[in-house]
This record gives sequence, C-alpha cells and structure tokens, in this order.
Amino acid sequence: MKKFLIPICLITGISLGYAIASLRVSNPTANATTQPVDATNHKAKDLVFHCADFRFKPMEGLFVCSTCSEKKADVLSWAGGVKIINSDNPVLVEEALKNIGKLIETHGVENIRLMNHLDCAGYGGSAKHESPAAEHEFHKKELNRAAGIVQQKFPNVHIYKYIETFHEIKPLVP
Ligand SMILES: [Zn+2]
Repeated sequence: MKKFLIPICLITGISLGYAIASLRVSNPTANATTQPVDATNHKAKDLVFHCADFRFKPMEGLFVCSTCSEKKADVLSWAGGVKIINSDNPVLVEEALKNIGKLIETHGVENIRLMNHLDCAGYGGSAKHESPAAEHEFHKKELNRAAGIVQQKFPNVHIYKYIETFHEIKPLVP
C-alpha cells in the first residue's frame, strides 16, 4: 500500500504547485483535477509557513507528503516567509500570528513548520549576501527569531525550522 501512495503524493504535490497553473493557462477549458479529498474533514496537524515564491512550490508539495502528519498541511504563504513575523511593524506581526492562531484553533494544528528559502526577493535575493554561507547564516537567525516569537505566543505547539535550497528542504539544526 505504501508503494502505491508515494507516487500519488508526488503527482499531487507537483500538481498543486505549478502544473495546474500551466494547464489552466495553456487550455482554459480544461478542468484541473486533484486526488479525492475528504471534504468533511478540515483538520490538519501541520501548518507550513513559507514564502509565496512559486519556484519552491513543487518541492514543498513533496515535503508535505513526506513529512507532515497524514500527508497534509495547512499552508500560509507570505512574501519573504518569516520576515513578516520578525517585522518591526506590529500590525504585520499581529496579522501573521492571528492567521496562525486561527488555524490552531479551528484546524487543530500542532506542528508549525517555518521555512525560508535562498535567493528570497523579500530579503533582496542572494546577491545581497557576501557568500552562500553568509546567506544561510542570515536565514538561520531569521528562523530562530521567528520561532521564538511564535513559540512565545503559542507555547503548546511544536515548531520546526527549515531552509530551502533549490534542490532540498533542510531541517535547521539549532
Ligand atoms: Zn521569497
């Protein structure tokens, strides 16, 4: 059974990210379809919080299938990923935390997976950093700072941190 489920997840992950959008553009009369879902159950234990950048969506779909409970997750996409949580503007921070809180309350989220990616335009892209190592270190600090803010607001959830490269989503080791 497991061997059968993995290919379905791969297809679903890719479809949700990019392929469906391409299908709609190339053939506006086509009906985009996904794997059947249980429409009566909106519960999800996982929440993925990441940047809106389309380049990472196929990989993120695969991540959900391989890592998240029951191969499903709620998703919050913000330009710049966790940058909004670390913002100096309290209105923006409150908006992000309010969205997270609503999903914890209504969907039963237990695990929050914070992601930042390399070459993020929200931070000025890779060119803004002196080296790949410096860019990695920058996002590590951003993720740790955001995780602290989220954990303080929601002490009962588990928080996981990841840095996305163009070929993998790497767990951030403290
Ligand atoms: Zn980005």
